[in-house]
Amino acid sequence: MRILVTNDDGIMAPGIEALYRAVADLGHVDVVAPESPQSAVGHAISIRTPLLAHRVQVRQAFEGWAVQGSPADCVKLAMKELLEAPPDFVLSGINHGANTGINVLYSGTVAGASEGAFFGTPAIAFSQELSDVLDFEKARVVARGIFQRFASSRPPRGMCLSVNIPACDKGWPLGVRCVPMAMAPMEDAYRKQFDELGRVHYWLDGEWPDHRDHPESDLEAIHERYVSITPLRFQLTDERQLSEIRGWGWPQDFAATESGK
Ligand code: MN
Repeated sequence: MRILVTNDDGIMAPGIEALYRAVADLGHVDVVAPESPQSAVGHAISIRTPLLAHRVQVRQAFEGWAVQGSPADCVKLAMKELLEAPPDFVLSGINHGANTGINVLYSGTVAGASEGAFFGTPAIAFSQELSDVLDFEKARVVARGIFQRFASSRPPRGMCLSVNIPACDKGWPLGVRCVPMAMAPMEDAYRKQFDELGRVHYWLDGEWPDHRDHPESDLEAIHERYVSITPLRFQLTDERQLSEIRGWGWPQDFAATESGK
């Protein structure tokens, strides 16, 4: 079994080492990850800058490719150039912070997994809820258990799961729930500051939506200290709206409209 590991917190982050260690003995593991933190870059890719890639040794843990790009860049480059053989699975994380609710759309961790899924490779994004001290020892054990179940279930081509692990410093998760993402935006707020030159700065300082407003969701599961598993798809077309707007009588002959007459 071949596994590609990536993340969005950068190749030096403790979370990716935990994920590597979670699966290292299960097969051949390649690590291709951003050289620097890329949280919240979403599914960004680099098209105006070349991708610098170099081998790095990360502590006593592993050697991998550090890429000056986004998580999606890393997976593309891995698939097309860096790997000797295509992976059977792509794993992304373990992110420092949950990717629940609408954060799925901003998440570089999820993008790393979904880029793998675009290639047809079953993929999982792992994220751990923030706490004062992130417990990657327990999160590693959780990620390993989830991955082993996933791999032995022979997931279909392109299946992509987002897995959120509750903060493990409070103890082990109480179990696993398969739930949809909450359709809840962050409650955005900006902190306004002035620098020494008197220039204005805005820092995004949002708050999580209230889990009580989103029963049976990833938000609630994490709050109740369960691991949440959400299968994701990337067909963004809204089928109901599609049939609706087809009946709207859109203009067809623009040349006639322009000539006016
Ligand atoms: Mn991150």
